[in-house]
Amino acid sequence: MSDSYDVLIIGAGPGGYVTAIRAAQLGFKTAVVDREHLGGICLNWGCIPTKALLRSAEIYHYMQHAGDYGLSAKEVTFDTAAIVKRSRGVSGRLNGGVGMLLKKNKVDVIWGEAAIDAPGKVTVKETKRAEAPKGAKGAGSYLAKHIIVATGARPRALPGIEPDKKQIWTYYEAMVPESMPKSLLVMGSGAIGIEFASFYRTMGAEVTVIELLPQILPVEDAEIAGLARKRFEKQGIKILTSAKVTKVEKGANSVTATIEDDKGKTQQLTAEKLISAVGVVGNIDNLGLEKLGVKIDRGIVVTDGLGRTNVPGIYAIGDVAGPPMLAHKAEHEGVICIETIKGLHTHPMDKAKIPGCTYCQPQIASVGLTEAKAKEKGFSVKVGRFPFAGNGKAIALGEPDGLIKTVFDAKTGQLLGAHMVGAEVTELIQGYVVAMNLETTEEELMHTVFPHPTLSEMMHESVLDAYGKVIHS
Ligand SMILES: Cc1cc2nc3c(=O)[nH]c(=O)nc-3n(C[C@H](O)[C@H](O)[C@H](O)COP(=O)(O)OP(=O)(O)OC[C@H]3O[C@@H](n4cnc5c(N)ncnc54)[C@H](O)[C@@H]3O)c2cc1C
Repeated sequence: MSDSYDVLIIGAGPGGYVTAIRAAQLGFKTAVVDREHLGGICLNWGCIPTKALLRSAEIYHYMQHAGDYGLSAKEVTFDTAAIVKRSRGVSGRLNGGVGMLLKKNKVDVIWGEAAIDAPGKVTVKETKRAEAPKGAKGAGSYLAKHIIVATGARPRALPGIEPDKKQIWTYYEAMVPESMPKSLLVMGSGAIGIEFASFYRTMGAEVTVIELLPQILPVEDAEIAGLARKRFEKQGIKILTSAKVTKVEKGANSVTATIEDDKGKTQQLTAEKLISAVGVVGNIDNLGLEKLGVKIDRGIVVTDGLGRTNVPGIYAIGDVAGPPMLAHKAEHEGVICIETIKGLHTHPMDKAKIPGCTYCQPQIASVGLTEAKAKEKGFSVKVGRFPFAGNGKAIALGEPDGLIKTVFDAKTGQLLGAHMVGAEVTELIQGYVVAMNLETTEEELMHTVFPHPTLSEMMHESVLDAYGKVIHS
C-alpha cells in the first residue's frame, strides 16, 4: 500500500518547505520530497552562502581600511579555505534547521527524485546526489490529493559557453573556490553576477563584467545602476555593457573570451576563470508535466496566480512558476497556494510590490516602478532624491556614498517605487515595501517620525525632497 497524503510537495527549497509547514499548520497530512538538500538552492547554493562569503569580503575590506576608523590592523590576509568553510557551515546549520522545523510540524520528508505519474500519484526514485536526512522515507509510490511542484531552477547555459566546472563556472563552483582566482570574467550583470564580481574584486581578483544590455543590473532604476557602476569602477571592476561574449576558448589554466560590442567591434579578454551568470531555467524535466498536459511556457509552469495549473490537483510555486526568481517570492507564493487549497480567502501576489536586493558593495535595493517604467506607464511623476552624504549616521559609519530615490504619482501622491544604493539599503527597503502595500501617500510618509540618527532618515528626506521640503540637502 502506498503512503497517502493530503498534500505532497516536490522540492524542499524555500518555496517547498515553507508551503509544507503552512500546510501542516492548516491541518493537512503533508510530505515534502527532495533529491538533494533541504532548503533548496537558497540555503545551500544561493542566498545564504553568498551572503556569508560577502560578509567575509566586507570585513576584509574594513580591516584593510582600519586606519579610517582610528584602528590599526597590520598584515591583513585571508584563508580561502576558511572563508569557504564558514560559508558552507552557515548553509549546513540552516539546512539542519529546516529539517528540525519540518519534523516539529510533523511533515514527512521523502528522499529521492520525484515524478508525477497522474494527478494524485507520485513516484519517487532513489537519488545518488546526496544522502538522505535522518528519518526520511525513501523511494516508492506515494498518493496525494494535491501535488505542488516547487522544483526551483538551475543555471542557464549558453551554447558554446557551457560550464565545465574548471574554467567556466556557474554559481556552484564560484561558491566554493579552492583558491582565489587572480582574474575573472563575469558574464551577466544581474544580482548573481554582480554579487560574485563584488566578492572576488574585494578579495583582490581583476574582474571584468560583461553585460549584453546597455545597463548593469538591468532591472534596476537607471540612475541607481549608474551610481553603482561608478562605485564598482572606482573599486577597479571593469564593466563592458552592450557587449556580448561570442566565443570562449579554454587554455590549460585560462579562458579567452571574444567579446563583441553593439557596433560589431570585437576584443579578446583572457582570465583564469569565467563565471556564467546569464540567468536560470526552471526544473521541469522528467517530472511528467507535459505528459499530463500541464501548460508550460518557455520553461515555466503556467499558473493562475494562486498556484493552480490548468490540471486540477497539480500546482506550481517558486522559481519553476516564473519570475521574479527570489526566495521571498517563492515562500509567499507557496503560502497563497496552500491557503487557496484550504479554501481560505486569498488573492494573487502583487508582483509589482516584491522587493529586490543585491548584496554587493555598495548594496542595491528596490521595490516598485523605476522612474522610467512609471513614465512609460503614463504616470506624471514626482521624484525625490537624498544622498548618503547628507545623513549623519552614514557619515559616522564612514559610508557617505549612496542615494535613496523615491518615485510618486504626481496626481495622487501614491508611492510608485523606491530605489536605493549604499550601505545597508537591503535592510532599509522593507520600510517602503510596507508603505507601498498600505498604498501610502506622500502626506502619510512625510508625517511619519523616523528615529535619529539612522540611515532610515534618508527615506524620509527622499520623500520630502520629492515635494520640495527636504531639510538636509
Ligand atoms: C548565487 C545565488 C544567489 C541568490 N541570492 C538570492 C538572494 O539574495 N535573495 C533571494 O531572494 N534569492 C536569491 N537567489 C534565488 C533563490 O535562491 C531562489 O529564488 C529560491 O531558491 C527559489 O526557491 P524554490 O523553492 O522555488 O526553489 P529551489 O530553492 O531551487 O528548491 C527546489 C528544490 O527542489 C528539488 N528538486 C528539483 N527537482 C526535483 C525532483 N524531480 N525531485 C525531488 N526534488 C527535486 C531541488 O533539489 C531543490 O532542493 C539566489 C540564487 C543564486 C543561485
